[in-house]
Amino acid sequence: MNLDLSKFIFVDHHCHSLLKGHSELDTFGFRQCFTESRSRRIIEEHIPASLHYMDLLNSMSRILTTSDEESLISRRCLQQEAGWVRTLWDDVSLGGLIVDDGYRTDEMLSIAQLSAIAQRPIYACRRIENVLESCLERCGTFGELRQMLPEKLLERNGPQIVALKTIVAYRGGLIIGTVSEDEARDDYESRKSLFKAGFALQSSPFYHFLLRQIFHLAGEKGLPVQIHTGMGDDDANLLASNPAHLQDLLGSKEFARTNFVLLHCFPYVREAALLSALFGNVYMDLSLSVSQSSGLARQMILEALAAAPSSKILAGTDGHSCPESHWFGAISFTRGLSHALQNLIASQTITDQQALKIAAAILHGNAIDLYKLEGLV
Ligand SMILES: [Zn+2]
Repeated sequence: MNLDLSKFIFVDHHCHSLLKGHSELDTFGFRQCFTESRSRRIIEEHIPASLHYMDLLNSMSRILTTSDEESLISRRCLQQEAGWVRTLWDDVSLGGLIVDDGYRTDEMLSIAQLSAIAQRPIYACRRIENVLESCLERCGTFGELRQMLPEKLLERNGPQIVALKTIVAYRGGLIIGTVSEDEARDDYESRKSLFKAGFALQSSPFYHFLLRQIFHLAGEKGLPVQIHTGMGDDDANLLASNPAHLQDLLGSKEFARTNFVLLHCFPYVREAALLSALFGNVYMDLSLSVSQSSGLARQMILEALAAAPSSKILAGTDGHSCPESHWFGAISFTRGLSHALQNLIASQTITDQQALKIAAAILHGNAIDLYKLEGLV
């Protein structure tokens, strides 16, 4: 069976907005959208030699009818901005997006601007650390901050907020301590001073106490919490980003009402899949892992599916900055999913009908259920 999933609606549960100048990127700027590295040497010398980037250019040549990088990039610049976004996103049946607007916020289109261009449902995911840091700037006492934080987290200033997200993996790692309120209060002034001196929030009693409070709040409000794990920013400690560090927290009765979504996961796909299989409140995606290691897509999806129930896996691109990023993320994931399911059919593990059901769940059904998305079929 040739399992063509290209017409299945793809709900992107984890992505970001577009750069204000996304249609005018030069070669360096365009390449930057497809690496987590900030190394000039990587971007100038090694990105063109990376499989996923070759894969991207090959996919673009299908639409732009030219094949070398330079002419592809100059041809994309000639496209009408909004029309190009819609052409690409329609091409992969991108039916809706959950956008974290806490990434390079000042340089990106607002969610409202993105919505006007994209012309499809867009929902918001609120990044916890951005809100926490803005509260640190504005609050006097620890008590004031505790009061302001939940209000600001849930304050709606655009599309419906359907999730919260933490980048604690990039702020000291996923070993999140159990901390008393007194310990957090004692830590508050020194953290505030450090923050005001220009240091980003890092692993500390203050931060970990508030994260746990927010996880409770998320459970009460029915908002899933997305947690970056595995690959990501180049300054993240890869070992400390192993989602296995979260096992006690995810499995504790304390957070039984809170749904958690492990993002990226590579190279810890098996750990994330096992956690998703063990705990009813844990979900996972592969997003950035699949788009930046697209040659491994089939294998990663098979590893995830081997342990995690198919009802626990979500489709995401981690697309950001340029619309090709979301588009290629959807291509590489959908193609990998199709290959993985065809393998499972060939080995008589599942039937054709079961494969189609799994594909629909992963590409949109699971996200619609988990985030209670309205306005989508
Ligand atoms: Zn991400």
